[in-house]
Amino acid sequence: MLYIVFLGAPGAGKGTQAATVAGKLNLAHVATGDMFREAQKQETELAKQARAYMEKGELVPDGITIQMVLERIAAPDCEKGVIFDGFPRNLKQAEALDEALGKQGKMIGSVIYIKVSEAELLERLGGRWICRQCQTPYHMVNSPPQTPGKCDRCGGELYQRSDDTPETVRERLRVYFAETAPLIDYYARTGKLLEAGGEGSVEDVRERILASLEKGFVR
Ligand code: AMP
Repeated sequence: MLYIVFLGAPGAGKGTQAATVAGKLNLAHVATGDMFREAQKQETELAKQARAYMEKGELVPDGITIQMVLERIAAPDCEKGVIFDGFPRNLKQAEALDEALGKQGKMIGSVIYIKVSEAELLERLGGRWICRQCQTPYHMVNSPPQTPGKCDRCGGELYQRSDDTPETVRERLRVYFAETAPLIDYYARTGKLLEAGGEGSVEDVRERILASLEKGFVR
């Protein structure tokens, strides 16, 4: 049973990397942003509560988010372990996760912090388009799809997230630095924090993450 947290700013590449690393290590990929977006498609009660916050780039209230995650990780596909992507996003969520795992005699094994400069984050989020079906991200300048508007992997339609507009991007980064970045220290104090440079090709970053994780496990 292995619990790994992927930490990093919006646009750091958490989603892309968490999906492949989860596949490689046979762990469930629990991405709270994806879960909230999925709920929006189905217009659930959860979606109604989360929508206004997401549109503004603010965090959905902790009570709703924590409950959603704890229910999710009790599912059978999480039995071997989980990669958390986009959760925890503040101290309260981190403590709630530690407490919930602790009650079951479990704990977080490693935290991977994917580090990307602020200038690069702004650049990436500005041109980001995502596949509606498989969530693969593209960048109109740095990694455009072969056919405009279509996903190379699955042929799905590409769209720009409504919270990738310049104003919301600024707010999401502000929230990240105010609320989520303090978790870097929180996890550093537990000795579980591993760092991986998030700039360069997707493959290079993945190799750095896997190498960091390996070092962490033999520590
Ligand atoms: P993401 O896809 O991780 O960038 O998340 C998109 C949006 O979903 C965020 O801007 C928040 O509004 C919401 N969200 C995702 N994860 C969390 C979380 N752990 N806590 C609160 N809100 C979240």
